[in-house]
Amino acid sequence: MGNKEELYQSLGIDPQVLSFGESILSELKDRFDGIDETAEFNQLKVIKAMQENRVSEACFQGSTGYGYNDLGRDTLETVYASLFHGEDALVRPQITCGTHALALALMSNLRPGDELMSPVGKPYDTLEEVIGIRDSRGSLKEYGISYRQAELKPDGSFDFEAIRSSINERTRLVTIQRSKGYASRPTLSVARIGELCRFIRGIKPDVIIMVDNCYGEFVEEKEPLEAGADMIAGSLIKNPGGGLAPIGGYIVGKKECVENAAYRLTSPGLGKEVGASLSVIQSFYQGLFLAPVVTASALKGAIFAANIYERLGFRVIPNGTEDRHDIIQAVELESPKRLIAFCKGIQAAAPVDSFVTPEPWDMPGYDSRVIMAAGAFNSGSSIELSADGPLKEPYIVYFQGGLTWPHAKLGILKSLQALKDEGLVSI
Ligand SMILES: *Cc1c(COP(=O)(O)O)cnc(C)c1O
Repeated sequence: MGNKEELYQSLGIDPQVLSFGESILSELKDRFDGIDETAEFNQLKVIKAMQENRVSEACFQGSTGYGYNDLGRDTLETVYASLFHGEDALVRPQITCGTHALALALMSNLRPGDELMSPVGKPYDTLEEVIGIRDSRGSLKEYGISYRQAELKPDGSFDFEAIRSSINERTRLVTIQRSKGYASRPTLSVARIGELCRFIRGIKPDVIIMVDNCYGEFVEEKEPLEAGADMIAGSLIKNPGGGLAPIGGYIVGKKECVENAAYRLTSPGLGKEVGASLSVIQSFYQGLFLAPVVTASALKGAIFAANIYERLGFRVIPNGTEDRHDIIQAVELESPKRLIAFCKGIQAAAPVDSFVTPEPWDMPGYDSRVIMAAGAFNSGSSIELSADGPLKEPYIVYFQGGLTWPHAKLGILKSLQALKDEGLVSI
C-alpha cells in the first residue's frame, strides 16, 4: 500500500489531498455497492439482448459504399431495440452527435403547422438553434413548426396547469429532456418521466413523446420507453458507446417514428436500407457491452466529486446524498479562477494530452465562452473524464465521465490539488 501513496505523489497529489479524498470515500461504500448492483443488472440486460438477437463474429465485418445488407448494422439495431424496449432502432455512424440525433428525430416527425412542446422548461443549449428559440438557418421555426414550453416550478416539480394549457390541437410532439444538461434543475428519474407521460397522454393520447436520453443510459435499471415514451435519442460518445464508439447517435422507439427518422437521415425511399457501417461497427458492439460498467464508473466519480466539494462548502447539484439519474455533476465554483483551475486539474489527470492547458473559447452552439477539459481518446467524448462550464455566473463546472473509477478518482483529486495549489480552497 505504501507504494500507492508514492505513485499518487508522483502524479502530483499531495498526502493531504489524498487523505482528505480517502476519508470522504470511506463514507461512500454503500452508495458504491448500490451502483455496482445497477451495473450488474444492466450488464445482464445487454448480454441478453446480444444473445437473443444472435450477435455473431460476422457482425463485425462492416460494409462500404451503399451498405446494402449490412448484417452488423441491422443486427445492432435489433439489439438496441430489444435492450431499450423499442419496436425499432436507428444506430448509425452517420448520426454525427447527440444534437444531430435529436434534431433528426424532431425534423423527421414534425410537419409544417405542427407544434413542439417541452414540459420541463428550456432544452439543452444546442437545441435552441434546432428549434429556432434562437434564430438559426434551417431551424424548425423556418419550416413553420412552432414551439412552446412550460417551465418547471421553482422547486423543480412539474407545473401541471402550465403543461395542460401548453398543449393544443397543433401539438404533435412533446420533448422531455432527462438530464439537466447546463441547467440547474434536477435531472428527471425514469419514474418521473413516466408520471409526465401518463399526464400528457391523459390530455392528448396520440401525441409523440420523445425523451432526450443523453447521459441517462444505464444509470437506472429502467429506460424511458418502459415508462411510456415513444422515442428516445442520444449520443454514442456518451454512455451507450462505452468509450469505444468513436462517433454516432441512436434513435429507438415506435417503428413509425424510427422509420421517419431513417427516411430523413438518408433519403425518402431509401431509409434504413443504406448507410455503410464502415470499420466502426465492432466498437459500437463492444462499447455497448462495456457501457453499464463504464457508466457506473462515471457515477462513482460524480458522487465522489459531489461529496468532496460539498464538504468544502460549495453548492453541488445533485447534492452529496441525492439519488442519481444521470452522470453529470455540477459544482458552483463562484469564480472564474476556480472554474479554470478545476478544468486544468481534470486535464492534467488525463491519459492523453495531459500536458495541454485548457483555455476558454467561443464554442459553436453556445452563447457564452466555454472552458473544456478533456484528454480523451475520442475527441469531445464526454463519457471519458471531462469537465466544462460556461464562463458566466455562478461559474458552474459540469463534471462527467471516467471510463474507469480509478481514473475518475484521480481526476477529482487533481482538480482539488489545482484549487489548493492556487490558494482557491483550504482543506
Ligand atoms: C450532450 C447533450 C446533448 C447534445 O449532444 P452533443 O453530442 O453534444 O451534440 C443534448 N442533450 C443533452 C441533455 C446532452 O447532455
